[in-house]
Amino acid sequence: MSKIIIAIDGYAGCGKSTTAKQVAKALNYAYIDTGAMYRAVTLYFQEQQVPLDNVAAIDAALEQIDIRFEANPAQQRNETFLNGRNVSNEIRSLSVSEQVSEVSALPAVRKAMVAQQQRMGQAKGVVMDGRDIGSNVFPEAELKIFMTADLEARARRRQVELQGQNQSASLNQIVENLQKRDFLDTSRAEAPLTQTADAIVIDTTTLTIAEQTDRVLALATQILAKQQTI
Ligand code: C5P
Repeated sequence: MSKIIIAIDGYAGCGKSTTAKQVAKALNYAYIDTGAMYRAVTLYFQEQQVPLDNVAAIDAALEQIDIRFEANPAQQRNETFLNGRNVSNEIRSLSVSEQVSEVSALPAVRKAMVAQQQRMGQAKGVVMDGRDIGSNVFPEAELKIFMTADLEARARRRQVELQGQNQSASLNQIVENLQKRDFLDTSRAEAPLTQTADAIVIDTTTLTIAEQTDRVLALATQILAKQQTI
């Protein structure tokens, strides 16, 4: 059976990652959380105090970064490893969230991450979520989803996610962070978050994860069935 690329883009906190993970599981596809990659780079830059205005230092730091994902079936999640260290929880901290949009706007960072993402998806059979997957990483993706949701609903979900990792942040702090990131992600010069003409919009404000997953799976199944009859 042929395989497709499913690109899920959208604003922060719409449930992209959770949906993408479930869709990948149902189709037996790989799941790639590209936000986790930009977060891991941000964590590395913070720890190594890489100056964001020094192109040579950024290039040198990127050479030192190895990001990998590993499935953790017991916890039903993908772990993110930065140079062999499990950073899955650290990359979700508010301090990383506060800087990730600035780091992900750097052209050298995007170039390195996009190249890695394109390698990871070249054999197809992937569900990739992020901001520029359908517009830039895989413009030829067979299925493109653009997710939106009310700001408050998104903030509440993020708060629950942080609480689950024993990290606390007030709703106000989270709202401010989401607004700031949405603004930076949609207005940056390099591959900004944008809804492509061929993307299917899903507003997740009132949807459960199961409903979101079912919608994406139904669309994927249609495409796969059509491919089989060609
Ligand atoms: O998906 P998540 O909210 O974890 O992404 C964190 C940040 O990484 C985003 O706010 C954005 O700045 C950046 N990002 C990006 N391109 C992607 C995925 C994430 O610029 N494909």
